Amino acid sequence: MLPFWGGCSNQSSEPQQTAKNGLLDLSQYDIKNEIVPLDGEWSFYWNQLLEPTNMEQGKLIGYVSFPSSWNKYEIDGESIPGAGYATYHLTFISSENEILALKIPKVRTAYKLWANGKLIATAGTIGQTRDTMIPQYLPQVASFDALQGENEIVLQISNFYRPSGGLLNSIQLGGEVQLLALRYNGIAYELFLFGALMMMGIYHLALFFFRRKDPAPLYFGLFCILVAVRTLFIGEAFLFALFPNCDFEFVYKIQTLTYYLGVPLIMMFFKSVLPGYFHIRVVKLTQFIALGYAMVVLFTPTWIFSVINPFYQIWTIFMIGYLVIQLIKIAIHKEKDSWLIVLGGLVLVSTCFIDIITLSVWIDDSWPLILRMIFQGDANSSTGQLVFAVLYSFLLAKNFSESLEYRTVMGEKLTELNDHLDDLVLQRTKELSESNKKVEQQNLELEQINQELQRLSLNDPLTGLWNRRKYKETVGLEWQRCLNHQKPISLLFIDVDYFKNYNDLYGHVAGDECLIKIAETLKSSLTHSSDMAVRYGGEEFVVLLSETGKEDALKIADLFLKKIEALAIPHEGSLVKNCITVSIGVSTLLPSQHSRHEDLVKIADKALYHAKSNGRNQATYLAETTLEEPV
Ligand code: GH3
Ligand code: MG
Ligand code: MG
Repeated sequence: MLPFWGGCSNQSSEPQQTAKNGLLDLSQYDIKNEIVPLDGEWSFYWNQLLEPTNMEQGKLIGYVSFPSSWNKYEIDGESIPGAGYATYHLTFISSENEILALKIPKVRTAYKLWANGKLIATAGTIGQTRDTMIPQYLPQVASFDALQGENEIVLQISNFYRPSGGLLNSIQLGGEVQLLALRYNGIAYELFLFGALMMMGIYHLALFFFRRKDPAPLYFGLFCILVAVRTLFIGEAFLFALFPNCDFEFVYKIQTLTYYLGVPLIMMFFKSVLPGYFHIRVVKLTQFIALGYAMVVLFTPTWIFSVINPFYQIWTIFMIGYLVIQLIKIAIHKEKDSWLIVLGGLVLVSTCFIDIITLSVWIDDSWPLILRMIFQGDANSSTGQLVFAVLYSFLLAKNFSESLEYRTVMGEKLTELNDHLDDLVLQRTKELSESNKKVEQQNLELEQINQELQRLSLNDPLTGLWNRRKYKETVGLEWQRCLNHQKPISLLFIDVDYFKNYNDLYGHVAGDECLIKIAETLKSSLTHSSDMAVRYGGEEFVVLLSETGKEDALKIADLFLKKIEALAIPHEGSLVKNCITVSIGVSTLLPSQHSRHEDLVKIADKALYHAKSNGRNQATYLAETTLEEPV
C-alpha cells in the first residue's frame, strides 16, 4: 500500500532501469536522492548458501526475475519446490562513493544480506533443513558504504515454513533518510489503520452490548478487530519490529485465522443488515467451511494448511462474486440508504480480492506494471475495511440521529398532549353531546319517515282512503269491539255505475278524477271516528260503520247516493242518469260466536248485486238470513 499522505518521490515517471545478467547500471542515477527498486535479472544459486567470500565457488543456475517467489523458476524444465534455500547475487554500478541504504521487505522465511562484503541485515536463522532454520519476518532498512563503480549484493534465503519461498516485493535502494521515511510512513499508515479499526470495532461491540436485539454491530465489530489485528502482520509488519522474537508459527496461525474467520463474519453481517438478499444456506456454508479450516489451523502443523489454503482462497473469490452480485441487486432495488452499504461493500470486496491475488503465488512479472504496483502491497483489504467501516458508521449515525429525532418529536407531542388533555376532554365531550343530538334528530326524522312509510303502505295512493290491507287489519278489531259491547256493525259496498262506459267515453284520467271526488264525498260524510272508508277495488269502495244498526246504515247509504248524484259529474254513457251515480249493497250483523266478519262483505256484495239488477243508483239491504239462499 502506498503511504496515503504521499511525500515520497519514488516510482518517478522516468523509465526504471532493470538488471541484466546480474548487473544493474545506476551510474546515471542520483541514488542518494532517489529510491530505485533493484528489480530485474539476479544471479541465482539454488540449494547453495554462498557468502561474498566464496561466491566464485558457486554453481550458477541462471539469471532469474526478481522479485518473485522462487516457485516460479524452473531448472531443466522442472519447477523449484517452495521448501529449500538459495543465494541471489546482484552487482550494481554507482557513480559515487556515498552512504546508501536498502529497504528489505518480508522475505520467506529467513535471510542474510551482504553489501560489498559486509553483512548488513538478517531475519531469522538461515538453515538447510526445517529443523536448523528459524523463520522470521523482519522488514527493515539497512545502510552500507557504496563505492564508485561496482557494488556487490549477496542475499541468502532459506524457506521451509511457507508454501512459496523468496520475496514478492522489491528490495529498494536509495538514501537512508528517504527509505526510512518510506518505512515510517508505511508503519504510520498501518498503525493508523490499526487504531481506527480497533476504535470502530470496540465502538460497535459496545453498541451490541447495549442493544442485543440487533446482531449486526457484533459481527461488524468483530470483523473490524480481526482486520485491525491482521494489519499489524502485513505490509511493514510492525508487530515483528515490536516483538522480534515472537513465534513465527503462532503468528502465522493467527494471521491465517483472521482471514478464515473474516469471511463468515462479513457474510453474517450482510445477512443481518439486509436479510432478504443473503441466503441463510450460503451463510451457513461459509460458517461451516471457515470453522473446518480454523480447526485445521489450530490443531495441525502449518504445512498442512499451507497446502489447503489455496482452496479457501478460491472459495473466498466465489463468495466475493456472490457478494458483488447481491450488492448490485441491492443497488438496483434502491433499498433505503443502501448506497452506503453497497459502496462500502464493493470497496471492501475488491480490496480483499486484490489481497488474495497478492498473497497467492499467481502474480508474476508477466503482469502489467500498474497491476503489479497495486498488488505490491498486501494491506489493501485493511484500507477497504476502513472505508467500509466509515461508510457503515455514517449509516448507523444517520439511523441513530433519525430515531433520536423521532423520540424527541414524540416526546414533545406527548407533553403537548398532556398539557391539553383537559381541553381535549372538554372538547370531545362537547363534540359527543353534539353528535348525540344529531343522532336524536336523525332518529326523529327516521321515525317520521317510518310513519310516512306505514301510512303509504295502508293508504290508497289515488284517493287517500284506507286500502284493503288496512281494512283487513281493522275489521277484526271493530268486529271484536262490537261483539264485546253487543252492538251491531254495518258495511256498505259501493260500486260506480256504468264506469267502464265512463272510461271509454272520457278516458282513464277523467275516470281517476271521478274516483277521487267520490272518495272525498265518502270521507267527508263520515261522522264517527270509528267509521272507515276504504278503496276496496278499482271503482269499488267499502265503508265500515262500527256500532251502527241497519236503519242508520241505510240512512248513510242514502246520503251517499244523494251527495254523489249532487256532484253532477256528466256521464253520457250511463243508462240511469246523465251523471255519475253509484249502487250500494248494505249489510248489518250483530257479532256472535257463530258469525264471522267476512260475512259482512259477502252479504253486502250480494245486496249490491240486487241493487244493480234493480236498476242501479240505489241502496239495498240484505238480511243476514239471506246469505245461505242460492242467488
Ligand atoms: P256496473 O254498473 O255493472 O258496475 O258497470 P261497470 O261498467 O261499472 O262494470 P264493472 O263494475 O264490472 O267495471 C269496472 C270498470 O271500472 C272497469 C274499468 O274500466 C273501471 N275501473 C276500475 N278501476 C278503475 C280505476 O282505478 N280508474 C279508472 N279510471 N277506471 C277504473
Ligand atoms: Mg265494479
Ligand atoms: Mg261499476
